[in-house]
Amino acid sequence: MMKILVTGGAGFLGSHLCERLLEEGHEVICLDNFFTGSKNNVRHLLNHDHFELIRHDIITPIDIESDRIYNLACPASPIHYQFNPVRTIQANVLGVTHMLELAKRTKARILQASTSEVYGDPTVHPQTEDYWGNVNPVGPRSCYDEGKRVAETLMIDYNKQFHVDIRIARIFNTYGPRMALNDGRVVSNFILQALQENAITIYGDGKQTRSFCYVSDLIEGLMLLMESERFVGPVNMGNPNELTVLDLANRVIEKTGSRTNIVHKPLPQDDPVMRQPDITRAKAELGWSPIVSLDAGLSKTIPYFQEKVSSSL
Ligand code: NAD
Ligand code: UDP
Repeated sequence: MMKILVTGGAGFLGSHLCERLLEEGHEVICLDNFFTGSKNNVRHLLNHDHFELIRHDIITPIDIESDRIYNLACPASPIHYQFNPVRTIQANVLGVTHMLELAKRTKARILQASTSEVYGDPTVHPQTEDYWGNVNPVGPRSCYDEGKRVAETLMIDYNKQFHVDIRIARIFNTYGPRMALNDGRVVSNFILQALQENAITIYGDGKQTRSFCYVSDLIEGLMLLMESERFVGPVNMGNPNELTVLDLANRVIEKTGSRTNIVHKPLPQDDPVMRQPDITRAKAELGWSPIVSLDAGLSKTIPYFQEKVSSSL
């Protein structure tokens, strides 16, 4: 049994990770400032003997002994990370530095939740880890994209200079239960709109692509990477099953049986045209690849939103 710190543990991915780590018999310290996360996401864990919840912002240092640190603390959806862009980049520069200093002092292994956004609006397709990306340093997405790029650099340099034991996962679009209802991401927006019979909002012509990974697959990948003894990454983690945003809208309409229609809204600035992970490295180094199809994943996700919609009536 290990003592494991999960920052951003009350968020969408973090809450699933805490749950899985407890199932494996570990002691979990969940740290969160509740900006986008919620106590509700971990309410079912609060009485667990091996679970502890701490309200804290990683922009301020903290001293906690642990064997492992999963650093997930950062708002992930464009509307949330653009709400207070300075705080977003601070979470990735100051926050990541504080977590690395903690790892250095306690000799904990630390995993950074990086992102496909380090590739920006990619000119290489699908994206391999060797691609350096195409990121606008002064656009609306920069606080997140550049923040996560600096975070990777900090991780690599703390490893080189101070021998901190690091892991870097580049996470691609992931979906599932406990995504925040108001986070504006495409899967949560489309499911809610379909269930409430509101028009599905497609930004631009809907021909831009994304590749969606179900949350349980992603969490298995993160845990495998963390416990890999010789491989540190960076490694892409996502489902290579690419589709257009328009295709996604039609899949959601079909699966919810909604009678809604589609409306087009302006495409946000710097919205990446295409995104698909090349997961050759994850397969070779970790033996990991996703197993949940989009159809199966949506079937597990829609009831969660259905329940939220019903309970808000
Ligand atoms: P989320 O917004 O649901 O979770 C982030 C959590 O971090 C929230 O609970 C939030 O309250 C907390 N948080 C934010 N800033 C904090 C701070 N300064 N101090 C302490 N806590 C803070 O998002 P998520 O989808 O669960 O994403 C988790 C991590 O994975 C993020 O780092 C994100 O960048 C990364 N990621 C997610 C995806 C995805 O598709 N879900 C894709 C790429 C990368
Ligand atoms: N999108 C959309 N309608 C929505 C929300 C998002 O068409 O209501 C589009 C968005 O423009 C982008 C894609 O869906 O092209 C994925 O958006 P999301 O915010 O989920 O993630 P990211 O852009 O960070 O991949």
